[in-house]
Amino acid sequence: MTSQIDQPPAIAIRDLVKRYAGIKGEPGKLALKGVSFDVPQGGIFGLLGPNGAGKSTLINILAGLVTKTSGNAEIWGFDIDANTRNAKRSIGIVPQEIVFDPFFTPYEVLENQAGFYGIAKSLRRSEALLAAVHLADKRDAYARTLSGGMKRRLLIAKAMVHSPPILVLDEPTAGVDVELRRLLWELVTQLNDDGVTVVLTTHYLEEAEQLCDRIAIINHGELIANKPTREMVDMAREKIVAVTVDSDLAVAPVHEAFIKTELSGPRGVEVTYDKDNLSAGQVLAILQEQGLAIQDVTTREADLEDVFVSLTSAGA
Ligand code: ADP
Ligand code: MG
Repeated sequence: MTSQIDQPPAIAIRDLVKRYAGIKGEPGKLALKGVSFDVPQGGIFGLLGPNGAGKSTLINILAGLVTKTSGNAEIWGFDIDANTRNAKRSIGIVPQEIVFDPFFTPYEVLENQAGFYGIAKSLRRSEALLAAVHLADKRDAYARTLSGGMKRRLLIAKAMVHSPPILVLDEPTAGVDVELRRLLWELVTQLNDDGVTVVLTTHYLEEAEQLCDRIAIINHGELIANKPTREMVDMAREKIVAVTVDSDLAVAPVHEAFIKTELSGPRGVEVTYDKDNLSAGQVLAILQEQGLAIQDVTTREADLEDVFVSLTSAGA
């Protein structure tokens, strides 16, 4: 899962803008507002953001399914406009929506895709791909008889038919059960171990935190963070002390050493502070100096969820 800095990026995105066409002369939705970032080779890169952030728009531009308004993108060094064919050959995309012709079998789906890429019969890997996604026993079943989870796995196999160095999965685990999620994570990790650079979009923080070595956060069409996962988690340096006091409070106590304070009820106060600068004991001492009689105390560490919420709400 290491990504090397001296290698060219797997994907390079520069100033990407997408404005969808508006209806009846209305200006269309500005889904991407000039996004730039690199996806390093060799890792699992998470593009994280709430619904409507612009994740699928970005992926679909890379896939050639949506036309960009302006900006550039290179896939494996190939410009998507100047070298469309090679750019497309370098990437396999698992779309968010599941679409199959219901009358093809998994084996036929993969063979058709191989035909589409002009892969000689002797070089096709349909059986091996079906085995890799645990669908060998469904080889000859009609696609319409597959469960949702099987269809998703088939889509991954389909995206890998032409052995691209990059695999992109758009919301692979949205709405899937825990068991399938685990299986998909295993598949993705296995492909990455085999040398495939993986990009996945998700709105599940936990998923990005567990799977990805680098996370970019997009919100309202803008990139608001792009860091190694560990650094992103380190941003969660905030800690919270919640206290209950013995009389009703009209306003939350304030102090310059606190990041913020909030009333959590008539007698409850939550103090957020940077744990590198202050201890929980010091927080309590400050509150007591302000005349509060503390009856109960609990503490909580901020997690990636809090970082995400504070980053995405800042630009809202
Ligand atoms: P995400 O995948 O992060 O949920 P999308 O890229 O699907 O976000 O959508 C970004 C924004 O663009 C949303 O406001 C969405 O409503 C809008 N949008 C997406 N597709 C279209 C389309 N075909 N026409 C008009 N607006 C669209
Ligand atoms: Mg989407």
